[in-house]
Amino acid sequence: MARTRRPLVAGNWKMNGLAASAEELKTIIAEAGDLASLTDLMICPPATLIASFAALAKGRPIMIGGQDCHGESSGAFTGDLSAEMLKDAGACAVIVGHSERRAAHGETDEVVRKKTQAAWRAGLMAIVCVGETRFERDAGGALSRVERQLEQSLPDQASGANLVVAYEPVWAIGTGLTPTPADVAEMHGFIRAQLTSRFGAEGEGIRILYGGSVKPGNAKELLTISDVDGALVGGASLKAADFLGIAAAYRPG
Ligand code: PEP
Repeated sequence: MARTRRPLVAGNWKMNGLAASAEELKTIIAEAGDLASLTDLMICPPATLIASFAALAKGRPIMIGGQDCHGESSGAFTGDLSAEMLKDAGACAVIVGHSERRAAHGETDEVVRKKTQAAWRAGLMAIVCVGETRFERDAGGALSRVERQLEQSLPDQASGANLVVAYEPVWAIGTGLTPTPADVAEMHGFIRAQLTSRFGAEGEGIRILYGGSVKPGNAKELLTISDVDGALVGGASLKAADFLGIAAAYRPG
């Protein structure tokens, strides 16, 4: 069946990367080859590298994104960055509501919704992360947890152009564990149904990424599941070869 949504493979470098890490980006740009015609590619480096990475990526088939933004556009918020600043530095997207920020910085769904609105105000695509804990899954509450996150973290006016949803089970992040393909299919189908019921036809165009221990070795199995429109990749995105190896799941055959 023909794909209706262009896939996206996005790398979240988290708090990793120094100026010398530009070599990895250069390798991705040099070796992406046919992959860029098969899938969108994005790297979200630490904020310190956004401007230099955006300069390297200019005119190349790779997008640069931020990992977080503040809900306000400016003001007395020491250490924070606004969506406008990310845009000004050359980002075209920003991850919001990553579970590490929800857990370590106490970000509620309401805060995530504000950050998503801030991203849109600045003209950035928002990659909104949702996902259940192990405890919630074991208790049979994975779907209801994600339903609540979607309801409360997503503002109205979402579209395929301004929103990507990343389903990232918290227990799969950085652990080497992944849900079964059946569980991924169930959750992505559920998220799609939520998006279309709330946003109508626009909900069909919103990409839903899977995130959590995606590697070159499991990418094909995960990325070919129905309603999985790409991956949000942490650890394996730090090495160009692994990042490209994951994107290679979109090569036919
Ligand atoms: C993430 O933190 O978004 C993530 C998916 O991490 P990892 O790929 O390392 O599990």
